[in-house]
Amino acid sequence: GKERQHEFLAASGMTKDGKLVEVAANIACTVEAEPAFSLGAEGIGLFRTEMLFMDRASAPDEAEQFECYRQVLDAAGDKPVIIRSMDIGGDKPIDYLNLPAEHNPFLGYRAVRIYPQFVTLFRTQLRAVLRAAQHGHTKLMIPMIQSIEEIRWVKSQLALVKAELESENIGFGELELGIMVEIPAVAFMMDQFCREVDFFSIGSNDMTQYLLAVDRDNDNVAKLYNSLAPSFLRLLREVVVGAHEYGKWVGLCGELGANKKVLPLLVGAGLDELSMAAPSIVPAKALLSQLDSKQCEALFQQACDCATIAEVEALLDEFERSQE
Ligand code: PEP
Ligand code: MG
Repeated sequence: GKERQHEFLAASGMTKDGKLVEVAANIACTVEAEPAFSLGAEGIGLFRTEMLFMDRASAPDEAEQFECYRQVLDAAGDKPVIIRSMDIGGDKPIDYLNLPAEHNPFLGYRAVRIYPQFVTLFRTQLRAVLRAAQHGHTKLMIPMIQSIEEIRWVKSQLALVKAELESENIGFGELELGIMVEIPAVAFMMDQFCREVDFFSIGSNDMTQYLLAVDRDNDNVAKLYNSLAPSFLRLLREVVVGAHEYGKWVGLCGELGANKKVLPLLVGAGLDELSMAAPSIVPAKALLSQLDSKQCEALFQQACDCATIAEVEALLDEFERSQE
């Protein structure tokens, strides 16, 4: 009931047998930060900064961005905040960038792919994030990473911007660097990526569409868009095992994280964190407290061995009933 839900607000996400799973919030703008923490967030697992760049005549300058990031970090206190660098272009058009219209925007010119052309824009964001990092536990996450070259390029830009700030005597903080795992290619290169970054977060929305070759916004193929495909679960396993082999932290910040029915699977996969819309946080913590992590692990391995989505769904139904 409501009272019981209340006790989960300040609690850490934890299974019945004591396995910690952080439950964090996805936010799209600064004002969403405080309510997220009031609703029990253990951190911000995804701050979609592209919203700061959309529906306006020009990009926000460094001062404006700094202010936004600082406010979120202030609201967070000691809790971690994952700031995702702008995921713009493609299906998220920005008039002032004059990007060309594309036949396949989801496979096109977006996110990290446009940073080299708009390098001043990207460096401005890096400066704002680095300066804001003095105000809290800051993690920077790069979207749509596909290759090692891309993350190395990002790191070279970070080094450059830090040197610039130093030479200008402008203070900045430490930050952890991570990538979104949303292009399946990354899953097969985890050993290499672990040498380059501190953490990972799985973008199940895009990773499902890219793995299954199904447009996430196309009603005609919506039936084929399903993250319970055994192929997706195996990919998830690859990513988590690959990250943990090198002691790296791996969360999940797609819509899948808020799906209560799927939660036992995600726990069983061994994810360190689940990030979701804030109203789902307390219900997720409540459900977590009733789960046994070993049972979840067995369930996940069984699901990976299923042949079809229907089999996975039947498995989840059966698991749900066994919990009652
Ligand atoms: C995702 O792809 O799962 C994700 C979290 O990013 P977005 O939904 O913003 O593309
Ligand atoms: Mg995405």
